[in-house]
Amino acid sequence: MTQHKSSVAIIGAGVSGLALANSLHEIGHPVQVLEARDRVGGRLHSISVGGSQFDLGATWFWPGEQRVISLAAELGLEVFGQWLQGDAVAEQEGSPTVRLNGNPMDVPSYRVAGGLAQLAIGLADRLPEGTVELGRPVTQIRRGEGSVLVETSDARLESEIVVVAIPPSLAVPHLLDPKTLPASVAATAAQTPVWMGASAKVVVVYPEPFWREGGLAGSGMSYVGPLRELHDMSPSSGSHGAIFGFASTGDPRLTRAEALEQMVRLFGPAAADPVDVQIVDWGTDPNTVVTPNSPRPRYDLYGAPELTAGLWDDRLFFCSTETAAHNPGHVEGALQAAERTVSLITASG
Ligand SMILES: Cc1cc2nc3c(=O)[nH]c(=O)nc-3n(C[C@H](O)[C@H](O)[C@H](O)COP(=O)(O)OP(=O)(O)OC[C@H]3O[C@@H](n4cnc5c(N)ncnc54)[C@H](O)[C@@H]3O)c2cc1C
Repeated sequence: MTQHKSSVAIIGAGVSGLALANSLHEIGHPVQVLEARDRVGGRLHSISVGGSQFDLGATWFWPGEQRVISLAAELGLEVFGQWLQGDAVAEQEGSPTVRLNGNPMDVPSYRVAGGLAQLAIGLADRLPEGTVELGRPVTQIRRGEGSVLVETSDARLESEIVVVAIPPSLAVPHLLDPKTLPASVAATAAQTPVWMGASAKVVVVYPEPFWREGGLAGSGMSYVGPLRELHDMSPSSGSHGAIFGFASTGDPRLTRAEALEQMVRLFGPAAADPVDVQIVDWGTDPNTVVTPNSPRPRYDLYGAPELTAGLWDDRLFFCSTETAAHNPGHVEGALQAAERTVSLITASG
């Protein structure tokens, strides 16, 4: 087992962990980021289809989310508005699809031309080479003598401070022994639901946004097929059209065939011929959730004081979007959690 030393070890290269790593690096703290996956971004995940980028995780940010707006500008990312024009559609069991008068499904919001994951990629690129270690799932975090010990399958890292930038319920009890934490902290962490942790997303890519010609917005709602809520996700370049739908994790109807049948019912026969269909079930992804979220998730635990203060004499901190005081769940919340954690670490000396 190899041994390393770092001043601050950050578990997770999602946007919260990467934003924190950037801020700490800027003020001179040596940092190491350990990421389980072979990519950065976590719940930000954009893929390329035919040269255009499509978001399989988060898609939007909203006016007023100043941290994301500033970060996108700082990274020089091209930002564009969500498509809002046209009419939405809706379907109910036993009734034909109806066209609504207008689009109540979408509100003004922003997207990133190269996919929202550019936020995470841009943050990772600003760190010194070797700071982010991919394919390094952390298996245990223990308190040592004046340090914290972080274990992966083949290495042990000794660090002055450890930041858990993964959803708290992934960390407790799986990486952190609840007996080493105050009981209220352990209970809060274990019960805090993962935002969107019970969701699946289906992205259907077409040669062009054919629905727009007919005055449709590419948005809709449905109680019939796997897709409950649908939105236009066409790239700004106009190179393709795309519609995505949110579905429930584990839905047995979550297949290409059922999704396309539903798309045809909602948007007409042209919807039968996609360029690509991507299905991602976030609720069965072991790097996002342990088990699907409970049917009654405790959203009231978001930003709970138990998880927003230093632990183990300021050697252990939680820092995912679920711990944010403002906009928890959103990318904005992940950036706010990173800001809070930097303040706590610098205040602790
Ligand atoms: C389908 C979907 C749609 C969404 N839509 C939006 C949206 O439109 N707008 C918005 O603002 N937000 C949206 N969100 C939420 C947004 O994606 C999150 O707020 C944000 O990405 C969370 O960042 P994070 O760093 O807190 O956590 P994560 O992104 O979950 O990052 C945690 C990282 O830790 C890694 N990790 C986990 N376990 C370990 C381990 N044991 N060892 C090492 N690494 C580990 C993971 O692989 C991951 O990279 C959406 C989320 C989903 C799933």
